[in-house]
Amino acid sequence: MNTSTGTPTSVSYDYDLQDASGATCTAHAWARVPAPLSPSAKAATKARIAELLKARNAVLVAHYYVDGDLQDLALATGGCVSDSLEMARFGRDHAAQTLIVAGVKFMGESAKILSPGKTVLMPDLDATCSLDLGCPADDFATFCDAHPDRKVVVYANTSAAVKARADWMVTSSCALAIVKHLKDQGEKILWAPDRHLGRYIQKETGADMLMWNGACIVHDEFKGLELDLLKKDHPNALVLVHPESPESVVAQADVVGSTSQLLKAVVESNAPEFIVATDNGILHRMRQLAPNKVLIEAPTAGNSATCKSCAHCPWMAMNGLQGVLDCLEKGVGEITVDEAIRLKAHGCIDRMLAFVAQNPAAIAQPAQGFVPNVGAA
Ligand code: SF4
Repeated sequence: MNTSTGTPTSVSYDYDLQDASGATCTAHAWARVPAPLSPSAKAATKARIAELLKARNAVLVAHYYVDGDLQDLALATGGCVSDSLEMARFGRDHAAQTLIVAGVKFMGESAKILSPGKTVLMPDLDATCSLDLGCPADDFATFCDAHPDRKVVVYANTSAAVKARADWMVTSSCALAIVKHLKDQGEKILWAPDRHLGRYIQKETGADMLMWNGACIVHDEFKGLELDLLKKDHPNALVLVHPESPESVVAQADVVGSTSQLLKAVVESNAPEFIVATDNGILHRMRQLAPNKVLIEAPTAGNSATCKSCAHCPWMAMNGLQGVLDCLEKGVGEITVDEAIRLKAHGCIDRMLAFVAQNPAAIAQPAQGFVPNVGAA
């Protein structure tokens, strides 16, 4: 995987054919990183965006994996930087009429599904996700039709059309708690699309889970063998792992969790050093909130690697300041969702948000007084 500034680059991802043999093949998409701005252009663009956010009654909702300038701007202007669960809640509850979602397409769609009366704009509508791409709605519907006895639980990283076919949506913050809840009710589960997250949840809960076979191209690249070697060089480091990572990596974790949960671990733990196995975009916020901690990126290449990954999502990297400005000045990048699909998809997201609201103890929460992700402006 490699992306270059301004030039579309091919990105390969797993595509689960769900044929008789259960084979997975590789498909190709593309990504393009926006051209960098000069320091003066960057400052002017940020100032103009801040001005227009106010003038347009808009708020910037950013994911931890996007460029640090966008994260800083979201916080400085009263927006939010968070994981997809909090982004969905924040956008729904905020008074602004326009949501600028800096992330990937499914995040914009979730915002629109929850807030149909608001305008949802994204800096680049082609910013997608290998999990979304690898789980086409028609193939997924066929898979579901073949297993009508199972509750359909889908990860947030799916299209609105896939969510429309689901009983529950989950994020990595609440997936474990919701699957455990369903298992306790005697339900069998059809899970999609991330095979690593599904396997982790299955192992933790013992639930009966039939899996789709997708993967995140970023987390799939973390290497267990090289992590083991790195740990030997840093015996005092805590290992923080996102559960979209392979089993050999998760098995070595001190903390397994969503981006928010990993950030919380860095801030609250007394450990001086951390090895971080998730998209390196998170390091920006970790460094801001825990400036005295040493952060080491988990290895994505080495003797067992088949390719060299940069541990950064090529589609998250498509979000830039100029894209945000274009949203505000030109109204481009609007997310639309077919109303029939939106209504069906709303049920599974709403079910998750209601569960999270009713079971706060089941979801790891920031410590008292520690609210790192919401801007004050
Ligand atoms: S980091 Fe992985 S899961 Fe997240 S948007 Fe990129 S490809 Fe999808």
